[in-house]
Amino acid sequence: MSLLVVGTVAFDAIETPFGKTDKIIGGAATYAGLAASYFTKNINLVSVVGDDFPQQTIDLMNTRGINTQGLQVKQGEKTFFWSGKYHNDMNTRDTLITDLNVLADFHPVVPESYKNCEFLMLGNLMPRIQMAVIDQLPVRPKLIVMDTMNFWMDIAMDDLLKTIAKVDVLTINDAEARQLSGEYSLVKAAQKILDLGPKYLVIKKGEHGALLFNKENVFFAPALPLEDVFDPTGAGDSFAGGFIGFLAQTKDISFDNMKRGIIFGSAMASFCVEKFGTERLIDLSQDEVDERVQEFVDLVQFDIALV
Ligand code: AMP
Repeated sequence: MSLLVVGTVAFDAIETPFGKTDKIIGGAATYAGLAASYFTKNINLVSVVGDDFPQQTIDLMNTRGINTQGLQVKQGEKTFFWSGKYHNDMNTRDTLITDLNVLADFHPVVPESYKNCEFLMLGNLMPRIQMAVIDQLPVRPKLIVMDTMNFWMDIAMDDLLKTIAKVDVLTINDAEARQLSGEYSLVKAAQKILDLGPKYLVIKKGEHGALLFNKENVFFAPALPLEDVFDPTGAGDSFAGGFIGFLAQTKDISFDNMKRGIIFGSAMASFCVEKFGTERLIDLSQDEVDERVQEFVDLVQFDIALV
């Protein structure tokens, strides 16, 4: 049982109301892989970096059970760089810089040993690259989860729609759901997006939690009210990594188990935002993860006796 994670491995520079960082390690696949590593150790990464990317971080991924054979290191080239600035509400941000660098000419190669994966996480990346990975798999995985963002809706909508049509679960935020569907109501947006192909849609609402839709059902999970939120970067990817990592661990892709997955994903996202970058996701203990999930359970548990 293996999980294949595709997405950016990046340098980020982040500004929030609480501070500013120079280049730190980021990237959708980095966050998703680290979050998933708390649930399954059989994780294979497909991505690309330049020769400026620290070997130490690749070693750290390996110690967390992330196989980096499919991580291309391009000599003489630079790693993808993203810079963003958060508004005071910490829910919205402006992208200041997106330097594709190595990504501009990236042709993903899925190593033979990765090809029998049963779970595929298509982290945020150019849709044509996400599609190229699906196309290299001889057998369709049991579950394909895809994340994307407004950037690709703006510049690669045709490729994006073709890729969305091939996946089982799409995860996007509320503004992206509205942009993709042209509907303000998230219920109407969800129905339109499910008509594009995916069987499930997760709409992330930042500090207001997440919604899971299929054609018949909807489930809501809150976000944990946290005392300190330092940096929301990577929360969506950590959510996706926790979600698919849990599903891969339990091998159960029913709607009921996806509800649990949403809670585990939300727990990983809540850790992610507590420190800058990937710092908090690097060395959590199992007890910390369990306690955090219990906090979610306690947060939403109530009894009502209807007469
Ligand atoms: P999130 O906060 O979950 O949306 O993810 C933020 C991460 O996505 C950062 O670490 C960035 O390096 C990465 N990222 C930003 N823009 C893009 C993009 N256009 N494509 C892929 N990854 C991106």
